[in-house]
Amino acid sequence: MEKKGKFVRMSLVEFTGWLNANRFDRQIGVIQNHHTYIPGYAHFKGNNHIALCESMERSHLERGFAEIAQNLTVFPDGDVVLCRSFNTIPAGIKGANQNGLCIENLGNFDLGGDVMSDAQRKAIVTVNARLLMRFGLPCDTDHVVYHHWWDLNSGQRTNGSGNTKTCPGTAFFGGNSVAAAQAGFLPLIAAAMGAATNPPAPPQAQFQGEVNTPSLRIRDKPGVDGTQLGAVANGALLAIYEVRNGWYRIHPTAQRWVSGRYVIKRE
Ligand SMILES: [Zn+2]
Repeated sequence: MEKKGKFVRMSLVEFTGWLNANRFDRQIGVIQNHHTYIPGYAHFKGNNHIALCESMERSHLERGFAEIAQNLTVFPDGDVVLCRSFNTIPAGIKGANQNGLCIENLGNFDLGGDVMSDAQRKAIVTVNARLLMRFGLPCDTDHVVYHHWWDLNSGQRTNGSGNTKTCPGTAFFGGNSVAAAQAGFLPLIAAAMGAATNPPAPPQAQFQGEVNTPSLRIRDKPGVDGTQLGAVANGALLAIYEVRNGWYRIHPTAQRWVSGRYVIKRE
């Protein structure tokens, strides 16, 4: 974590912790995705995250904004920088700022521009997933949106017709259309949300067995040459997760084995 004024640079893990630890006093219902265009990958030196945010803020001030326009910036190395407070309405999309949260993804993702790094790809997906989860929003194109879908003059959503920017880029996750988002972006976010809410189920025991010897050695391998790690007493009930050469693994994940000769199978 690196701090300078309001700018806070965080890893993805730090961002998730920060997001879940903080309360926000503004209703957030739309996650906006943008690309910065300039600065792009050529300006990113690997350690100048906050300096780039400061320079974006200077240019936004020149354009008459009160401060940097976006709430969050996602960098090519996968780090994020907190910019405008989440409690403050962003200046991201005319017509969608009131309950919006503005993410600027650093780079030029128009066709022929920057090639998005794997780290940034993962970060963009994860940040969108975490925000949807944090604010209780469904993963669809009403809640994850692109700048391109709003007309710049009217502030009306046109899904790309009228006077629009290409933002977040004609090559952003396969394109900047609603259909491209549905095909190439939302499924990744949905998968990230699923992985976060449904951790893999623990391994199930195959059967149970009762120890039938005064003291049964636990070894780190299925064989008498395994190092002894401890022992279980007569009558102990064991859950068996794997059977190998007459030996039973008695731990769901760790290498803890006992000889099956001294265990009576219980159905
Ligand atoms: Zn934009």
